[in-house]
Amino acid sequence: MGSRQVTDGQGLSWEGKHVTVAGLGVSGVPAAKVLHGLGARVTVVNDGDDPRAREQAAALEALGVTVRLGDGATLPDGTDLIVTAPGWKPDKPLFAAAAEAGVDVWGDVELAWRLRGPGAAPWLCVTGTNGKTTTTQMLASILKAAGLRTAAVGNIGVSLLDAVLGDEEYDVLAVELSSYQLHWAPSLRAHSAAVLNLAPDHLDWHGSMEAYARDKGRVYEGNRVACVYNVADKATEDLVREADVEEGCRAIGFTLGTPAPSQLGVIDGILVDRAFVENRQKNAQELAEVTDVTPPAPHNIANALAAAALARAFGVPPRAVRDGLRAFTPDAHRIAHVADVDGVAYIDDSKATNTHAAEASLAAYPSIVWIAGGLAKGATFDELVAKSAPRLRGAVLIGADRALIAEALARHAPEVPVVDLDRTDTGAMLAAVQEARRLARAGDTVLLAPACASMDMFVNYNQRGDAFAEAVRELA
Ligand code: ADP
Repeated sequence: MGSRQVTDGQGLSWEGKHVTVAGLGVSGVPAAKVLHGLGARVTVVNDGDDPRAREQAAALEALGVTVRLGDGATLPDGTDLIVTAPGWKPDKPLFAAAAEAGVDVWGDVELAWRLRGPGAAPWLCVTGTNGKTTTTQMLASILKAAGLRTAAVGNIGVSLLDAVLGDEEYDVLAVELSSYQLHWAPSLRAHSAAVLNLAPDHLDWHGSMEAYARDKGRVYEGNRVACVYNVADKATEDLVREADVEEGCRAIGFTLGTPAPSQLGVIDGILVDRAFVENRQKNAQELAEVTDVTPPAPHNIANALAAAALARAFGVPPRAVRDGLRAFTPDAHRIAHVADVDGVAYIDDSKATNTHAAEASLAAYPSIVWIAGGLAKGATFDELVAKSAPRLRGAVLIGADRALIAEALARHAPEVPVVDLDRTDTGAMLAAVQEARRLARAGDTVLLAPACASMDMFVNYNQRGDAFAEAVRELA
């Protein structure tokens, strides 16, 4: 991606434009390099000034990029455009200064969208509070099964910039988008897009549930073929209604029940399409069986239906939907079956880092010993516990905010035995698994679905899940 061109894929010249890149790191460094390569004058500003940042800064400075460490607040003089890391909060002073100076702000997704070439692959976009990665990967698997050149990109795998500027050619991209990325992507126009679900998350960043929903809803703006929504989550349908789409773009629902016309759903264990078929008033097309989906938990069937809807909107034949779903295996720590010990199944859903995700995963099993807790991030647990109480054999609580879950259990499930584990050392997960084993009976599921972030006890959810799996193996 060197300095081989001075105009971007849209034929615009960047020569002499002063672009400020906000934030070193995953998206900032490649953005700075690409913009510099296009002939822009690039300044990178970064809040931190640590050894890692200095190393990155030195590498960029060697190319001729200016880097300002330890001050991400002041707008550099003469800035024509800001390209920001998606995680930078909109209320930062840098953006107030930009607004005052009439300077546009783009995120990493907006930059990739603007730099893509003529005839570039269309984007099928996936967002939602939970299930984004899984659904995007399912979608890529289905598109591949149809013989299309594609990749799962965005929040996962290949970066969007690489996907649109690299040498690899694509027919279509399966794009995972976070609410932050959507916030900073005003001109993105997808071929089709899905909002999987909407539950309170990242509200400290967005400021309110309304603002969060509005940013998620941007994924539908300007869609050409289909806006895919969740029939069971009215808020997603409302976003479709509010979106300004291209003439002829259709609203397509997905449901775990029998689908109405223009929906995909489930009939007698079969995933069926009543949207992209001839005479949808009368006909439905079989796509796959529920057992083709791994794991066959209800929320994951919903993910499969959303992926199928986007693929069908792109014209993929039914058989490829089935083949793609069969070929798909979820990433680690997402309802991963670790082992059966004494007739009890041990399941690692460490990625259930919020209450909405944990609720979906608890709904997938009839009798559960639940291992939960960690950092609550401002969440409340009453609704989750009230809904899940009938399925709970017992609960083992770990981590900093476990008292919040204990209180919810006392209020809504007073009969459920609870072990409150007051330990944060490395042996804590083993102790939790041992306690869970004591509570479980044959046929039960011991489920790690913490409903909380992991950083109080672990580096991340991966390490938490690994600790769980290791502890289970020790039992076995
Ligand atoms: P994301 O990329 O949105 O974080 P993932 O596909 O990585 O989503 O799944 C994260 C967790 O969310 C899973 O481990 C599971 O607990 C839960 N989950 C997955 N799909 C759904 C869904 N459709 N509805 C609710 N929860 C879900």
